[in-house]
Amino acid sequence: MTTVGADCLFCRIVARRSEAEIEYEDEHVLAFKDIYPKATVHLLIVPKRHIASILTMEAGDVDVLGRCLLAARQIGEVKGFGERGYRVSVNCGPEGGQHVYHVHFHFMAGGRRGAA
Ligand code: AMP
Ligand code: ZN
Repeated sequence: MTTVGADCLFCRIVARRSEAEIEYEDEHVLAFKDIYPKATVHLLIVPKRHIASILTMEAGDVDVLGRCLLAARQIGEVKGFGERGYRVSVNCGPEGGQHVYHVHFHFMAGGRRGAA
């Protein structure tokens, strides 16, 4: 289920070829609303460059993945969760619940919502 470029949903969102509600952007990172929110605030933070999964990440991916966490910090502060806190999680591979094979950090704040 490894997809890149035109076949990858999150690459298409990065390229503005698929719709998304973008909440944060810098040179290397994009964050947008999860279409099926499981928390009051549920964003997905992704590297703009395609990295399929933590399962296959390499040393050269460390910088951009760290930048995703810095983006989480900034989003948390801007949205008023800088002290209250929030959850940042990554699903990895089939048994880890990963469905989209472009690495994404779930940013969840303000309490759970929905079934899952
Ligand atoms: P995961 O199961 O960890 O791979 O997470 C994939 C996430 O992508 C799920 O929380 C989905 O709700 C979300 N998702 C799927 N399609 C879209 C989309 N077009 N725009 C925004 N979020 C999406
Ligand atoms: Zn991709």
